[in-house]
Amino acid sequence: MTKEKSMLAPALQSLPAISGSTPLARAVDYLRISVTDRCNERCLYCLPEQFQAWTPREDILTYTEILAIVEVALKRGFKHFRVTGGEPLLRRDIDSFLRDLIQTPGVETVQLSTNGTRLVELGESLYAAGLRRLNISLDALDPDRYRAITHGEVGPVLAGIRHVKALGFTSIKLNAVLIRHQNEAEIWPLVEFAASLQIPIRFIELMPVSLTEMLTEKNFLPVGEAMALLAERDKLLPWEDKMGHGPAKYYRLKRTGAVVGFIGALTNLHFCEACNKVRLTSDGQLRPCLGHHGEFDLKPALRPQVDQTRLSAFLDQALAEKPPEHAFRDNWQPHRIMTALGG
Ligand code: SAM
Repeated sequence: MTKEKSMLAPALQSLPAISGSTPLARAVDYLRISVTDRCNERCLYCLPEQFQAWTPREDILTYTEILAIVEVALKRGFKHFRVTGGEPLLRRDIDSFLRDLIQTPGVETVQLSTNGTRLVELGESLYAAGLRRLNISLDALDPDRYRAITHGEVGPVLAGIRHVKALGFTSIKLNAVLIRHQNEAEIWPLVEFAASLQIPIRFIELMPVSLTEMLTEKNFLPVGEAMALLAERDKLLPWEDKMGHGPAKYYRLKRTGAVVGFIGALTNLHFCEACNKVRLTSDGQLRPCLGHHGEFDLKPALRPQVDQTRLSAFLDQALAEKPPEHAFRDNWQPHRIMTALGG
């Protein structure tokens, strides 16, 4: 990808923030854990179509190694965990891992991010493992549009969403990445679908976190524009309920009753002020910020055997070096694909 093509940055620098926010002391208590870089979809903005450079299996952390990191994180005040990927439901025995994570003393919440393609098959075993929180990606309802964006089929995903809703998962959220010329016309149908199931939906701005051709200013659709499109049909009322541990700003639509969140990573200039998370990549790199290249390799503290003191020191270092804000607006160039980083 050329530098010019990747630039989401310059025109964005002058954009106003979409909403105010209170500067907070950032208590980092949330770890996103990528369990695999493999995925069974090829979203235009995420995984380059021909991509084959998967992390060698022996470099992927074992569940035991991940749980050792969780133990250390808990001692440092972490409470909230999200399991992601790649597509986490592709990894073998993910339900047993989730059970172990959920049952670890001190763990308060565990969420799973998924593309939803395997939820009909795995919903029961995830529920039986104790999981109650799911974020499901859904960029379009129209089958052709969904296929154009993800190279996958929407039918099994919609069936999966209905299935987990019926099973009684208590927190289900839908996520749609906004892409100009791809899914503007899907915004309202997605909101209506989410409202019909009483599930919140969040719209996410395209971020320069992968190596695909999609990440251009031409394809960038600010959340403010999505809000304006929705405002043509319904009234957006600020929704103050705490809806999780992330940076979304929520609104309730007056007539439809839909709860809609907006994740304006680029246009919300206050986006990073309350950032409470760090990421663990599937190959054992601790990454304090998605929009910075800094990573701390935890492998020397895990292999040949776990060294808790060293792990703890790495975690302290990562927290100390967490940048005040991402560098996305500053012509930032990704150097890894999103599935390796863990979305
Ligand atoms: N496979 C799972 C899924 O589909 O949700 C988890 C991994 S995926 C990388 C996590 C989230 O990152 C998804 O909601 C996806 O849409 C989002 N994502 C990936 N690339 C992105 C990009 N360039 N900009 C914004 N969001 C992105």
